[in-house]
Amino acid sequence: MERLKARSAPVRRALWIALLYLVFGWLWITFSDAMVARWFVDPQALKMAQTYKGGLFVLVTGLVLFALIYRQLSKDRTLLSLHARQRDEILRLNRFREKVIDQASVWINVLDSNGRIVLWNRAAEEITGYSRDEVMHSDGVWELMYPDPDVRNQILAKVAEVLRDEDALAGFETTIITKQGQERVISWYTSSLGSVEGESAGTIAIGQDVTDIRAAENLIRRRDRQLVTLMDNLPGMAYRCLYDEHWTMKFVSSGCQDLTGYQPDELVDNRVVSYASLIHGGENDRLMSEVESAIGSAEPFSLEYPIDHKDGQQIWVWERGRAVVDEDELVLEGIIIDITDRKKLEDELSEMATRDALTGLLDRREATRLLDDEIVRARRYGRSLALLWIDLDHFKQVNDQLGHAAGDTVLRGFSELLSSRVRQVDLVSRFGGEEFVVVLPEMDATEASQSAERLRELVASSPQQLGDGREVNLTMSVGVAIYPDHGDDASSLIAAADQAMYQAKASGRNRVVVASAVNPDHTSKKNHEG
Ligand code: GH3
Ligand code: MG
Ligand code: MG
Repeated sequence: MERLKARSAPVRRALWIALLYLVFGWLWITFSDAMVARWFVDPQALKMAQTYKGGLFVLVTGLVLFALIYRQLSKDRTLLSLHARQRDEILRLNRFREKVIDQASVWINVLDSNGRIVLWNRAAEEITGYSRDEVMHSDGVWELMYPDPDVRNQILAKVAEVLRDEDALAGFETTIITKQGQERVISWYTSSLGSVEGESAGTIAIGQDVTDIRAAENLIRRRDRQLVTLMDNLPGMAYRCLYDEHWTMKFVSSGCQDLTGYQPDELVDNRVVSYASLIHGGENDRLMSEVESAIGSAEPFSLEYPIDHKDGQQIWVWERGRAVVDEDELVLEGIIIDITDRKKLEDELSEMATRDALTGLLDRREATRLLDDEIVRARRYGRSLALLWIDLDHFKQVNDQLGHAAGDTVLRGFSELLSSRVRQVDLVSRFGGEEFVVVLPEMDATEASQSAERLRELVASSPQQLGDGREVNLTMSVGVAIYPDHGDDASSLIAAADQAMYQAKASGRNRVVVASAVNPDHTSKKNHEG
């Protein structure tokens, strides 16, 4: 209708001009002829006037015609060059658009209202492996890319929905099979192109290949899951903490509950307790300096220390960690494992290593070491210390008469008796065979010889039970040496006491001799003949 109207306007204008020309021509001919006939009576002059009049008419109409045609032609020329410019501009824009579409890194395709492909850019070719020539003006490629009919129908339904609602759909993901048979995950933005004269103009779809992104995300998710599983099954807890005086925990794994008795929530950010408060004060300073030196040398650190469990028990832990810089902050990451059982076993083993196997008393090496410590202490505080060297009398006879096993039983019974009758601070040791050393800290010669005498009497009056009803009477000879009177180190004290013991033996056994026993005042005699 509009077009028809547009076309009728020039026709009408031309008709009007022609009509005007006819009317003007007719009026001119009619009136000018009448006027000329009135003015010129002479037929010769009339004819001449008629000719000039005709010439004048032709001249005027010719001028008008020239003006009109000139005007129209120059108008046409302007229009033509304008059109040419516009056409060039449109072509340029079209080429630009095609270039943009073609060089876009995203897959762009346009479908007509029947689902046939009318645009397929280079990225689409690269992602799918199907060239433009293979897919244009057809919808067959979708069957190849979505071989599962259910999946395909689902996708078609989505596209149909977009077409129907003249809507747009973003973030919709599909998995295509490329021409090479690989799976690629595509994230889509699909939009209707609207409708032209009541008919759908189709859809444009922009697809981004997110295969690598999704794969990386899946990998991270899987790693996360593995990490959580690993941490939840650690025989202790994994942690991340600040390098501060509270060891402020920023993360602890669920093993925290078993290890410390506290829930992870209670420990993180020191909400209920700080990790540092579970560690004994002095230990904490040592740990701080060990961690500091590990950080200084950019090495991981391993620590062993006791912490207080929430239930009040002390447990031993082993920690291995390292310092890392996280968001410009120095943090420590690592694991802490309960080693209480191992520690207990170690303690037991090292205790056993210092004990005599038969009697459980301190062995010679450990007793000598402890004696050294006691002498250092006595020296520091200006105190004395006594050492008793004990040798059982005629012990060979016990073995000979009752057997070696009975001899062992007697040695054990004697050891128990001795241990039960000394102070907590005294050290009782088996130096070898049936020889024993007792260290009595802070005792002078008088106190020591009294104690030795008491022990001698006790042993002499306590027959050893063999467990089968038999008894063994036992006596012992004791040599006493005093620090600092008879020696100022372990070996000289031991030698002095040993010597005094020999004196006791020589003097008839079952007696106590103090090292300066050259002086008979220090010899106590009870049963002279043993
Ligand atoms: P005395 O000291 O009174 O001179 O006489 P004794 O018979 O005790 O002599 P001595 O101290 O020299 O002998 C030590 C004996 O102790 C020798 C050995 O038969 C015995 N003996 C040493 N160690 C053990 C042991 O572990 N078990 C047993 N059953 N006997 C031991
Ligand atoms: Mg002996
Ligand atoms: Mg003996």
